[in-house]
Amino acid sequence: MEHTKCLIIGSGPAGYTAAIYAGRANLNPIQYCGLQTGGQLTQTTIVENFPGYPEGVDGTQMMMELCQQAERFGTDVRDGIIKDVDLSKKPYVVTTDRGDQVEADTIIVATGASAKYLGLPDEKKYNGQGVSACATCDGFFYRKKVVAVVGGGDTACEEAVYLAGLCSKVYIIVRKPYMRASDIMQKRVNDNPKIEVLYETNTVGLYGENGVEGAHLVYRKGETDEKLYDLPIDGFFLAIGHTPNTSIFKGKLDMDKTGYIKVQDNTTRTSVEGVFAAGDCADPVYRQAVVAAGSGCKAALEAERYCNS
Ligand SMILES: Cc1cc2nc3c(=O)[nH]c(=O)nc-3n(C[C@H](O)[C@H](O)[C@H](O)COP(=O)(O)OP(=O)(O)OC[C@H]3O[C@@H](n4cnc5c(N)ncnc54)[C@H](O)[C@@H]3O)c2cc1C
Repeated sequence: MEHTKCLIIGSGPAGYTAAIYAGRANLNPIQYCGLQTGGQLTQTTIVENFPGYPEGVDGTQMMMELCQQAERFGTDVRDGIIKDVDLSKKPYVVTTDRGDQVEADTIIVATGASAKYLGLPDEKKYNGQGVSACATCDGFFYRKKVVAVVGGGDTACEEAVYLAGLCSKVYIIVRKPYMRASDIMQKRVNDNPKIEVLYETNTVGLYGENGVEGAHLVYRKGETDEKLYDLPIDGFFLAIGHTPNTSIFKGKLDMDKTGYIKVQDNTTRTSVEGVFAAGDCADPVYRQAVVAAGSGCKAALEAERYCNS
């Protein structure tokens, strides 16, 4: 069976950064890219907050350049999805969707996370044209504009408060007659004069000629006083959670209840020695490319130390 010192799963900023470091450390890494070569940043246009690009950079372009950098240092970058992992004995074994198997002394898991959407066809239609699942990433494009945030938890409140620092008005659209968010976050929202919470409200569609110009909303859906109305907005932000892409590690690596891989202390070490987790698959908090890249670097350094110990 083919053998490598370091196998990297995923080709987002975490995976490619791990590949650059592992390649330069002579670990001759093999990297599987998965369904979305380049990861989440290939879904966006301009990335303005990654250090080193004063004019911003096209997300796909940036990821292609990271790939070239990884290949320059000897990473064997491959198409393919990892379908199964056997972590019960060393060396570990991964199986791809084509049935190929590779033995690995260390594995770096960099499989990312996917934002949850409501499932409306209009979310796809306006993706990148007014629909976003990341206020930190895209809020800047909506300065002095009117936006809505969907969700009733702490993340929705945090995103709304962040956006209120940039936008002229922020609506929070909440399905229930109350929010799930902590009291402190609700207080921050309620104390902010730019934020208005629309309780018992569902979004049923979006409209606009050139990007989002408004949302079709229903107040008290299915009740006798149900009311359909349109809310003019420039941006529609989803804040209803993320799903980490970690199902193949279920029961094999320790995870939190949402499925984020647990790492030890301030490292990328998982519950299995020699297996490291980097980027959004182990980060329910920051979910930013530069943070993912930083943890990819840490994972490769830790893999190198593990191989040499
Ligand atoms: C629309 C959008 C815009 C964004 N804009 C910004 C921004 O401007 N600035 C910023 O800092 N952040 C931004 N983000 C967030 C940023 O993209 C993420 O924080 C970052 O991509 C996380 O990197 P990652 O390497 O952990 O995972 P991802 O980028 O999610 O990559 C995961 C990789 O794992 C692969 N994979 C998954 N499962 C398997 C498997 N079984 N086998 C093999 N491979 C697998 C996927 O194919 C993919 O290549 C944005 C996100 C989105 C969705």
